[in-house]
Order: sequence, then structure tokens, then C-alpha cells
Amino acid sequence: MRDDELRPRRHFLKQAGLVTAGLGGLVALNDCRRGRSPAEAKGPAIIKSQRQYQWTMVTTWPRNFPGLGTGANRLAERIQSMSGGQLQISVKAAGERVPALQVFDAVRSGTAELGHGAAYYWKGKLPAAQFFSAVPFGLNAQEMAAWMYHGGALKLWTELYADFGVVPLPCGNTGVQMGGWFKKEIHSAADFQGLIMRMPGLGGEVIRQVGAAAPNIPGGEIFQALDSGAIDATEWVGPYNDLAFGLYKAAPYYYYPGWHEPGTVLELLINKSAWLALPAHLQAIIQGAAQADYNEMLAEFNARNGQALDTLVHARKVQLRRFPSDLLQKLAQISREVLGDMANQDTATRKVYDSFLGFQKTALGWNQIGESAYDQARLLDPAVEALLQSRS
Ligand code: CA
Repeated sequence: MRDDELRPRRHFLKQAGLVTAGLGGLVALNDCRRGRSPAEAKGPAIIKSQRQYQWTMVTTWPRNFPGLGTGANRLAERIQSMSGGQLQISVKAAGERVPALQVFDAVRSGTAELGHGAAYYWKGKLPAAQFFSAVPFGLNAQEMAAWMYHGGALKLWTELYADFGVVPLPCGNTGVQMGGWFKKEIHSAADFQGLIMRMPGLGGEVIRQVGAAAPNIPGGEIFQALDSGAIDATEWVGPYNDLAFGLYKAAPYYYYPGWHEPGTVLELLINKSAWLALPAHLQAIIQGAAQADYNEMLAEFNARNGQALDTLVHARKVQLRRFPSDLLQKLAQISREVLGDMANQDTATRKVYDSFLGFQKTALGWNQIGESAYDQARLLDPAVEALLQSRS
């Protein structure tokens, strides 16, 4: 790697380049036409900084991978567009600049200013980080957003990463995931004994407790691992992503629900030194773009998963299976134990755990008479029943 690639390439716009500096430039130009200098006009503070920024975003995803890789691209484009080109971002897929699971360290060291991934990938150095991506039998996508933005989670997450010189922002959500692909049917917890199943994060800890091995394999390597028999089963995301990887070609049974990832949050990692050196309006643009993409990604997954599920079941003849209720009950019980044990390991994890559990208690109370009650109620509509029948 060249030395100049390790540092942000910083350029100053020439005087003539003012009008190319996006919104700020246009405001300045209009003020000049009205006979006012930019300083006289009470225009936005955005014109204070004309400096251009060339940043790199390393990601944990294969290039252009549906939903996740494309989500990273879209976020970068949104930031560029909102900044009027003042902040340019070059997106690198997993392995192009650094391997998928070295994204956190790359942002920490300043090799890249930005990273796009999921917090549970860093559990080796930061066990508490897992709570900010997915918790087995925990909060769903809507509730994770509520905990993040209005329940104190983002503040805790920021504190947790501060020691590493990294600033986190939620920047996407996959919605509830699928339980995974299996080469054989699963009837009880005993079927996990000796099973090698790719599963990251806290879910991986849970299935280890029932005798499985749970390696974390980056997305781009999953198909080959499953197809070659190196692993017996895998979870990945949901129909939209799983269809794109062709996982149905390597294992026939597709299980639900995704108890281990009920609403997985994607994260934007920002090198703290680079962040602090940004003018306030560019910081606000990054924050706004990340929050916009949280909603956009969730909408995309919800729209595409339904289409992909139909393709998998009807065109690819996938065997769709629900995990038995007694198995789910067992996994839920173990999940509680795993979370409790984690909380006892260090004070940072205890703090996050207490916040999560407190929020879940409140969220469950509302969900029971809100979304969950409605989801059940609409199934009573004969027209809904007819719609569901027409799909099969
Ligand atoms: Ca997953």
C-alpha cells in the first residue's frame, strides 16, 4: 500500500472552484448576483468550508451485493450528493483494501476513514458491541431503531467505541432474518449436536451451548463452505440475499424464524480523528444520510424478501420449515443464560445489557397490544387468508 493511500487526500478548492462546492457554492453565487457578499448575507454556514475531502469506505460485503453492498454504495452516494461533492467517498468491497473482518481495525488505524459492516463482527475485542447489531429473541427492527434513537443505545455505543478512536452510527437494518439453510431436517436441540453451522454473534454462542460449532465465515465464502461440506448449515440474511448467493443449491431445508437475528442493525464506522476534523455541516450530512439509509435499507429488504421467498419456494422448490416450538423455547432459554453470563464479564457489557433489557421490557408491553396484536388481527380477515392461499 502506498504511503499516500494511508492518509486522506486533502485538496483546497481554488477561488474559481467556489461554484462547484455544491449547495454552499450556489448560495454564494446567488448572493453575489443580488449584490451581497456571502459574508453579508445570513446564508447557511456551509460556505465556511470549501475544502474537499476524499475518503475511503471499507466494507464487510462482497462488491455490489444486494441490500448490503449496494446499501454501502447508496450511503456513500447519498453523502456525496448531500454534500454537493464536497465529501467524496470511494467504496471498497471486502478484500479490496482489507479483508471483511478487518474493517474495524482499518477504520481504527485510519487506513480508511469509514467502514460499513455489523457490530457483532467485532465481538472478539468488544463483546458488548453485539447488542448493537442483533440479540437472540431480542428487539425487532422497529424496536432497535427506537432503542438506538430514543432509548439511549446510540450514546452507549458511542461511548463503547470511543476508546478505540471510532465513532459508530446505525445505517441500515435487514429486518428479521431467516433461521438458515440445513442439509438435514431439524427436529430438536439434539440435532444441533456436532453440527457445524456458520452463525456470527450471540446466536453463535447459543448454538455452541447445544453442541454445535459456530464459525463466523464472511458472506463471500459461505456458499463454497456449504457446498463443499466444510459446514453442515448456515444462516445468512433472508430470501433476498440468500437467493442471490444461491444457497438453495447447497442445502434443501430453509428454516424460519430467524430467532438469532430479529432485526439486525448495520453500522457505519468513522475514524474519530477524521470525524472531529470535519466541519459541522458535513458531520450533520453523514448523520442524516446514515439515518435515511437505515430506513431505506429496511424498506428494500421488506420489499424484496417477499418476492425472493416466492421464487425460492415455487421456482427453486426449496423446502420451507418452521423450527419446532419446543426447540425455539429451548434456544430462548439458553439465549437468556448466554446474555446473563456476558453481562457478568465486564462493566461495559453490563451497562449495555441493562439498557437493552430495560428497553425490551417497555417495548414488549407496547408490541403486545400494538404491532403484534394487529398482525394477529389481520389474519382474521378472510381476504387476507385468500391472498395467502393464492401464493401457494
Ligand atoms: Ca445473519
